[in-house]
Amino acid sequence: MHETSIVNSIIKTLEMEFEEEKLRKMRAIYLKVGKLSNIEPRLLHNAYGAYNYCGSKYHEVDLHIESTEIKIQCEICNHITQVKNYRFICENCERPSKNLIEGEEMLIHKVEFED
Ligand SMILES: [Zn+2]
Repeated sequence: MHETSIVNSIIKTLEMEFEEEKLRKMRAIYLKVGKLSNIEPRLLHNAYGAYNYCGSKYHEVDLHIESTEIKIQCEICNHITQVKNYRFICENCERPSKNLIEGEEMLIHKVEFED
């Protein structure tokens, strides 16, 4: 499943980033998932739950997922528009634009540790 491999890669990234001792104090992971990223937050939560089900060492770590909006920046007037209903049109000059600046990403935004 797509989401299971995403959970695995998030954990791998954190394990490369932080020392074992630090990871034991990890309490929350904050993700930003773009609406065009093909990642379904609900399924990602399920996959994370399944990952932790068998007593993983991260079972105390909460996963927070923020779904980020789709934004385009107009090539003509540089205006940034938040795309609604997949309407890729600059709200300033009303020209169509496919210059995505947000909405495709999946990133670890923040990690929380116990003091
Ligand atoms: Zn424009």
